[in-house]
Amino acid sequence: MGARPLLLVDVDGVISLFGFEPDAAPAGDWTSVDGHAHLLSATAGEHLRRLSESFELVWCTGWEEKANEHLPHALGLAGPIPHLCFTQPAEACRTHWKLDAIVEHAGDHRPLAWIDDTFNEACHAWAAARPGLTLLVPTEPHVGLTAEDVAMLERWAQAQRERATVVQRPSP
Ligand SMILES: [Mg+2]
Repeated sequence: MGARPLLLVDVDGVISLFGFEPDAAPAGDWTSVDGHAHLLSATAGEHLRRLSESFELVWCTGWEEKANEHLPHALGLAGPIPHLCFTQPAEACRTHWKLDAIVEHAGDHRPLAWIDDTFNEACHAWAAARPGLTLLVPTEPHVGLTAEDVAMLERWAQAQRERATVVQRPSP
């Protein structure tokens, strides 16, 4: 059994929701991080618990280490979860400010899925050219990660497992 695929998880716009009308806030719990109020999606914890059975979760968020200070406890997740660090200022990145850290962590070949609300053209071009299987899962920031996203990700991970089994089966 090979390593599970990676699942890179953004927080703002995926777990922490924004952009909704003030009188139409989605279901969730408000939490304060460094004096800023964040609405954590009511379903995010259960979604991530399910996905952790098929994937190795990695925080891929500007929250960096703060994700572990606040989120596993708030979401009822086993933690801490590995997190990426972004050393380059966003304006210095020619492509997308998360890509260098993702490449450094994941390499070119390990299957990975990435959930984010701010993919740009560079992300899609990188994913299309990456040798390893790569899935980008876009979210709407006022909705975040959905049950449909989770079901699709589970099917994708299942396909990876079946593919790995075929590859590893010795020829007769
Ligand atoms: Mg985001």
